[in-house]
Amino acid sequence: MIYFDHASSTYIDNDILTTYHKLLSLEFANPSSAHALSLNLNKIVNESRTRILNSFNYKDGKVIFTTGATEANNLFLKGAYHQYKNRGNKIIISAGEHASCTETASYLASLEGANVVFIPLLADGTVNLEILSKEIDNETIIVSVIAVGNENGAINDLETISKMVRKYPKIIFHSDVTQALGKIVLNYDLLDAFSFSAHKIHGLKGSGALVLRKKINLSPLFHGGGQEDGLRSGTNNAPLNIILAKTVNNSFKNIDDNFQKVNVLNKKLVDFLLSYPQYYILNSVNGSPYIVNFSLVKHKAGVFVTALSNEEIYVSIKSSCSDKSASYSPVLLAQTGDKRRATETLRVSFASTNTIVEVEVLTKTLYKLCQEIKDGF
Ligand code: PMP
Repeated sequence: MIYFDHASSTYIDNDILTTYHKLLSLEFANPSSAHALSLNLNKIVNESRTRILNSFNYKDGKVIFTTGATEANNLFLKGAYHQYKNRGNKIIISAGEHASCTETASYLASLEGANVVFIPLLADGTVNLEILSKEIDNETIIVSVIAVGNENGAINDLETISKMVRKYPKIIFHSDVTQALGKIVLNYDLLDAFSFSAHKIHGLKGSGALVLRKKINLSPLFHGGGQEDGLRSGTNNAPLNIILAKTVNNSFKNIDDNFQKVNVLNKKLVDFLLSYPQYYILNSVNGSPYIVNFSLVKHKAGVFVTALSNEEIYVSIKSSCSDKSASYSPVLLAQTGDKRRATETLRVSFASTNTIVEVEVLTKTLYKLCQEIKDGF
């Protein structure tokens, strides 16, 4: 099989799996109990937080373990809005966010009266910085901009955005870094808060975190025993949270080498797509090499995904979070302004273990399908 859907989920590293198995059988206690076994485990969990902060080189931070980026984005947006809405009512997010941000922001707008402003995208999929800078004002309490678009791979300029928001001390600057982590070099210290998932970096599903500055207080979504700084009550999943530190740390190893390797794969695929403009339109321009998004000119994306899948080549339609809905991708529509182009879109996402031979098989198969499939428009 040829797996090109790493932006949806990655295979688990053997190292992570073996260590996790050991932790599962050894570290079964509840870290919140008062006996020595738990006290020791609690210490290890807290060391894991420190290791995560150190991996990100993040100062004055705290780690809230979550089930992944969806929960972290919800916790941040709702928690920060509830906590700080007395300071201002405006939330600014980009139109290129993952659904866990856009849907949460829309929920806050429609049910809780937040003034949510979606900043449009440029043709390369990045957020329009000119409009963003005009929208930031004294009413703004949250700015959230995705680091790397999960659908189009667009890399946002977080450095420039951080300069804009720093003029307004009450703004909390958040980024969903799920598709950037371990792939793109990023200065995490620019951010007041960020979210990620472990299974995008060869870790375990149902694991991730919200990392934020110590001084930021959020309102909790879950109430109960007060675990995770009162933000996420429920028994701490110690083995999962301990292994997260190793997962994050591993993701930073070989980041440059992996980037170069994937860049070669990206270039091969992009060159192929650009040489057949009658069949393909490229939607990822100068973005992360790990994600190639393109639209089919004459064919239906769903038909292609199935046909590729029949040949054991696995790619994605839009983001896997919205695969099931037959309609267009809101992110691609915001980027291209073209509903058909935003509907018939395929995403190929690499890991450093993919090979050039695999890309060649993909390009040959894509070409063959364009000749064979008449199920177009
Ligand atoms: N944000 C981004 C950028 C993502 O790519 C994803 C996964 N598609 C998520 C959030 C949600 O992650 P999870 O499903 O692990 O909660």
